[in-house]
Amino acid sequence: MARTVLVTGGNRGIGLAIAQAFAKQGDRVAVTHRGSGVPDDLFGVQCDITDAAAVDAAFGTVEAELGPVEVLVANAGITEDTLLLRMSEEQFTKVIDTNLTGAYRLAKRAASKMLRAKWGRMIFISSVVGLYGSPGQVNYAASKAGLVGVARSITRELGSRNITANVVAPGYVETDMTAALSDDRKADYQKLIPAGRFATPDEIAGAVTWLAGDAAGYVSGAVIPVDGGLGMGH
Ligand code: NDP
Repeated sequence: MARTVLVTGGNRGIGLAIAQAFAKQGDRVAVTHRGSGVPDDLFGVQCDITDAAAVDAAFGTVEAELGPVEVLVANAGITEDTLLLRMSEEQFTKVIDTNLTGAYRLAKRAASKMLRAKWGRMIFISSVVGLYGSPGQVNYAASKAGLVGVARSITRELGSRNITANVVAPGYVETDMTAALSDDRKADYQKLIPAGRFATPDEIAGAVTWLAGDAAGYVSGAVIPVDGGLGMGH
């Protein structure tokens, strides 16, 4: 059955691969962007997830054009890396406001319609570093660990209404975000990854479409690592 899916940050990177995977299986897919536009085969809505009014407006547009959001993929995220002693409070709160508070804004807006429909899927894109930790990423790791608490609490609040909330925790993925890393750092990371390579965005999308599908209807509050074995046990 075709569903209405909203993927934040679906204009590029992992979000785009997720959006295209849903579109390929026949779902109605909307993606957010911040002015860059989106590929022709996707429905784009402009939205900055740090702005609750913009989130509300984006949902309103998607509801009017494609119907209520049944599958929310909270994917948009940023990094602002530096070591703890150099990290300003602004650098900390900016990353939290986007990656964690942004996800809260999206989940809250999506929940009311999912409750009415008595069906919903929320998928939060976290990161292996949320539970593994990473030097220079106190802000980012905190925001990504926080998503686990968000998904598990939503599961306890809304689980009886046929609404699931799960976390996908990618390892390193070939996107603009990791293109910023030096070749030396990439080589260092690759040595730590049992798979010996970074993931492609499509490899993350597969876990997300599975969580949204009927086969995963009894999976909720889970953290699914897609990291080539990097974070085992974390
Ligand atoms: P990119 O940097 O390639 O893309 C980030 C996306 O997030 C863009 O679409 C961007 O929009 C959007 N975005 C950022 N801030 C906001 C905001 N305030 N409001 C709305 N949209 C925003 O990232 P990736 O594709 O690599 O990452 C996607 C997700 O996966 C992120 O949450 C990231 O933390 C996570 N992740 C990535 C990993 C990796 O190795 N790449 C590993 C683990 C997790 P715009 O185009 O307008 O800037």
